[in-house]
Amino acid sequence: MSAELLLEETLIKRSQQKKRTSPLNYKERLFVLTKSRLTYYDGRAETCCLLQQKKFRRGSIELSRIRCAEIVKNGGGIIPCQNKYPFQVVYDTNTLYVFAPSHDSRSLWVQSLKEEIKDNPAVLTKFHPQFWQEGSWLCCRQAEKQAPGCSEYNLFGDISRKPLPPIPGEERKNDRQRRPPPPLPPVTDDDDDDGEDDDDDDEEEEEMVVALYDFPGAEPHDLSLVKGGEYVILEKCDVNWYKARNEYGEEGYIPSNYVTEKKSGNLVQFVWYSKQVNRNKAEELLRKEDKEGAFIVRDSSTAGTYTVSLYAKSAAGDGGAAIKHYHIKRTQGSPQQFYLAEKHLFSSIPDLIEYHKHNAAGLVARLRYPVGKQDKSAPSTAGFSYEKWEINPSELTFMKELGSGQFGQVRLGKWRAQHKVAIKAIREGAMYEEDFIEEAKVMMKLSHPKLVQLYGVCSQQKPIYIVTEFMEHGCLLNFLRQRRGSFSLGSLLSICQDVGEGMEHLEANGFIHRDLAARNCLVNDSLVVKVSDFGMARYVLDDQYTSSSGAKFPVKWSPPEVFNFCRYSSKSDVWSYGVLMWEVFTEGRMPFEQSQNHEVVTLVTKGHRLYRPKMATPTIYDIMHLCWHERPEERPSFSQLCLMISNALEGDTPPPN
Ligand code: ADP
Repeated sequence: MSAELLLEETLIKRSQQKKRTSPLNYKERLFVLTKSRLTYYDGRAETCCLLQQKKFRRGSIELSRIRCAEIVKNGGGIIPCQNKYPFQVVYDTNTLYVFAPSHDSRSLWVQSLKEEIKDNPAVLTKFHPQFWQEGSWLCCRQAEKQAPGCSEYNLFGDISRKPLPPIPGEERKNDRQRRPPPPLPPVTDDDDDDGEDDDDDDEEEEEMVVALYDFPGAEPHDLSLVKGGEYVILEKCDVNWYKARNEYGEEGYIPSNYVTEKKSGNLVQFVWYSKQVNRNKAEELLRKEDKEGAFIVRDSSTAGTYTVSLYAKSAAGDGGAAIKHYHIKRTQGSPQQFYLAEKHLFSSIPDLIEYHKHNAAGLVARLRYPVGKQDKSAPSTAGFSYEKWEINPSELTFMKELGSGQFGQVRLGKWRAQHKVAIKAIREGAMYEEDFIEEAKVMMKLSHPKLVQLYGVCSQQKPIYIVTEFMEHGCLLNFLRQRRGSFSLGSLLSICQDVGEGMEHLEANGFIHRDLAARNCLVNDSLVVKVSDFGMARYVLDDQYTSSSGAKFPVKWSPPEVFNFCRYSSKSDVWSYGVLMWEVFTEGRMPFEQSQNHEVVTLVTKGHRLYRPKMATPTIYDIMHLCWHERPEERPSFSQLCLMISNALEGDTPPPN
């Protein structure tokens, strides 16, 4: 059954370019699609000897791991092989590019794949419609291979759908497109292949990375990292953990967010580049440094473009200072060149920065002191080690109480005497514990700088403990209330941006929060706000909280489809996000302060919405309002919201040059 043949055709595969210097490779492969796998073999259909199947197989992907199948828009680029119709298959964290000989062939493959993956849980909500090429996505210019997609992925939206399966008889009109069914494809369930692409093993150089932080390695199977050290990637086990080798030949697991690819075009490896620093934060960092020529290179609000923020003291010696923001511009046509000031063109951004370190050449100062990265503390890892979710309680020490909530008491503690953590002791009868423990393995994989990291659980004892990242300033709601009157517009927007980015990651992974509110966000010592308690509402054992008529149900944060029908989605999270924005801009007021929950249901059903907080500009209030559209499908996605917020942060006027 699982080996049922769906399609078979000789196509051309682009090598996955895992390694840095190899030329792109295009190889002819016999592709075979069955109900369970997409497999490819050496050579052409005519010459492939199916009896020697193992010998010729070059790669195989389980269909359950495929997250997107779609045509690739080529944007007029040259395709260096005879097949001119590219499509992509995204699985786990990899993208396979395949070139079909004709438009019809490609449509058939893409449609067939889509049909087979339509029920996969991890299907992407956003994808990249163009190629990943030479270190960036051609569609959005983002230079991170794992950067979230820039276009909505609609399983059946992009290409005209044809009836499936093809009508018998019709299907063989073009023999290249579909070959007679038997013999069956050579993939069996006891196959030792784990779904990886093994095509490139003998074709390319090794992928090198540079460590951005020290990693001490928690378990014997881990490999310690030293900041600035270079490592070879042996295997990408999942998005969070890689297997790597150091210069002494030692091998082990490393956290993927502690390293960056060593290659030209990757700015992350430079001290002067700070990803995810907006205009507001850049100004804050530069003022704190207070040095002539202090600078940061950061992402502009337009994806894939960069800005240099530069601090210059006043020449009058009156202690005054100015901060200028310069877009790094690109020339049209090829080869592309970069410049800050006219007439000084460079073939790369690092070259441009190097030049302006020595020559102001039109800037208010030369670029003297890179700011921002040096003292940045290491980010959280997805668990303390690869596949480690059970934490030994004897390795925890308890310190002060931090607060208590629906599930019980939360205390500050240390893991192995040095790593600060928050430990939640679950009160007897407060949680569906078994269900949660199972889900915890999934939740641990949700790792993002704007999500409170789950490190693991102590599940072999009562009470069970949930161990998470420690957030020094506690919950966002109290943080806002305690500092009322001290927030600038930019700092409030920046809070919303942090939460939006965390939620964008949940949305991209198809994970619904269900109880997003300021009380469920936490603030750390760098004043970064992170989303917490995602998905936890499902494990609460308390009718008052779980029933929409219960006193603890978050009605004031819920859209009509939730308080009426408990219909949760990323779009219901978007509604809650609008209310959270309102909480932020009122510096922690209670929404619908004068109304009881049942009155809010009536008000909202009639179309009534929260008023505009005094600190919210009309543009900001417009963003909140979009979140409160009655129809979920009309509300923006989190990625659209993030864009709106970062535009609002950058200001409406273009930065001066
Ligand atoms: P529950 O999930 O049981 O409702 P909460 O997550 O709301 O509990 O936590 C209760 C309180 O404990 C929070 O309001 C906050 O003050 C504190 N707290 C919880 N988690 C952390 C953390 N990771 N770091 C710092 N303080 C925390």
